[in-house]
Amino acid sequence: MRSRMQTQVHLVHYAELALKGRNRGYFESLLIKNIKEKLGEDFKVSRAEGRIVISPALDPNQEEVLSKIFGVKNYSRAFLVENDQLMEEVPKLVHMGENTTFRVSAKRAYKDFPMNSIDIQRKLGEALLAANPSAKVDLRSPQLDVRIEVLKKYSAVYWEKKEGAGGLPVGSSGKVLVLFSGGIDSPVAAYLTMKRGCRVDLLHFHAFPTAEQVKGTKITELASKLAEYEPRLRLLLAPYHYFYLYFLNYPDKYHLVLFRRFMMRVASQLADQNGYDALATGDSLSQVASQLMQNLKLIDKSANTLVIRPLISYDKDEIIQKAKQIGTYEASIKPYRDCCSMTSLHPSLKPLESEIVAIEEKVNYKEIISKTLDEVVEVELRWRDPRGYPAGSDPAPMTRVLAAGPARRYAHTPPEGKRAANRLPPSAKGMVYCMLARKLRP
Ligand code: ATP
Ligand code: MG
Repeated sequence: MRSRMQTQVHLVHYAELALKGRNRGYFESLLIKNIKEKLGEDFKVSRAEGRIVISPALDPNQEEVLSKIFGVKNYSRAFLVENDQLMEEVPKLVHMGENTTFRVSAKRAYKDFPMNSIDIQRKLGEALLAANPSAKVDLRSPQLDVRIEVLKKYSAVYWEKKEGAGGLPVGSSGKVLVLFSGGIDSPVAAYLTMKRGCRVDLLHFHAFPTAEQVKGTKITELASKLAEYEPRLRLLLAPYHYFYLYFLNYPDKYHLVLFRRFMMRVASQLADQNGYDALATGDSLSQVASQLMQNLKLIDKSANTLVIRPLISYDKDEIIQKAKQIGTYEASIKPYRDCCSMTSLHPSLKPLESEIVAIEEKVNYKEIISKTLDEVVEVELRWRDPRGYPAGSDPAPMTRVLAAGPARRYAHTPPEGKRAANRLPPSAKGMVYCMLARKLRP
């Protein structure tokens, strides 16, 4: 029999999943499915006593992909060792320098294993000391923490643990359409919504004459960043110009709330037609005029579905910190022609509902919504398999092509993207290297 000595894997721990009681099996399967989908077919992903084992072990690029999968609490590169060979094999795996301090931390997930955790720790400690005479045991803050997890078929041995993205596996909590402005806040709101297990798509209202002009802006850049966390993420683009045309002649101090109510209506219809369970925004209470409690209430009255606001209690500093951590900040602060800066500079802080409704009743609202919905374009962001990248290389930038036409595939992949794509097996999925664009309504 081949010794497991050579077998290196990645061992994945998940936390909240374990709390999900009766749903646990479902959550585990979903997490495994998401990991398989992102890593591709070269990996065997299986469950073992409340852990997930990925085999073979991942390279640094693939590890980065794993670090962006929600539901993973932490992960480690681990060696698999036969249960009955622990005492002989572990000292061969652990290389300690002179005077290294260490401890052994054992967990016995397979309860029928004849030794308990304390005994494993003690015996293995002795074996490690015998192999490394200058080493010392330090139970409190050792330089090396040798971890052993005894599973049914084998034990996993590792000493480095990396933080995962946390949260719940995407797909476990429903489908949400995020109102996506491309500022600092809404990308973070999208991230947090995904982190709670939601499938997320983004809806952006743009102020360009055509959707094609959104190409190459921070909007597509941010969407592709977020797609690294959720490869199925779609970007929907809606025009702002019909709103502007119809409301132009009304006092611009009302525009902000009118516009936000308009976005809610369009988004609610899209939610109805496309099976979204909720909408989400990047609002944080009282951050700006439109986010005062009273205005949020007015805005929500125009939504006919649940609106979630993951950042409602966040300070701007906290949002910025999060944006930097998830990698969206740099793109978010790039200059952009956004609709909100084109609405009033001095919005009314507390417009009366009656004033707002009176204006809305004067315009042909049905027509504005219908015209806007007619021009909504769906942009699909493709995700490239991590196997397509040689270690250390950057993913190819996404294609800068987008057009509002009937389903067209853009072969206009940048040369580096094409090269990488050609190396892939046909079944491989890609990391944001090409975009499909089609009108949402035929
Ligand atoms: P953000 O980082 O999201 O731009 P902000 O502080 O600039 O935050 P506002 O401009 O007041 O916030 O917008 C509040 C929320 O409204 C945004 O977080 C987003 O959810 C939504 N929103 C604003 N503008 C747009 C837009 N052009 N398209 C889609 N949603 C938008
Ligand atoms: Mg904004």
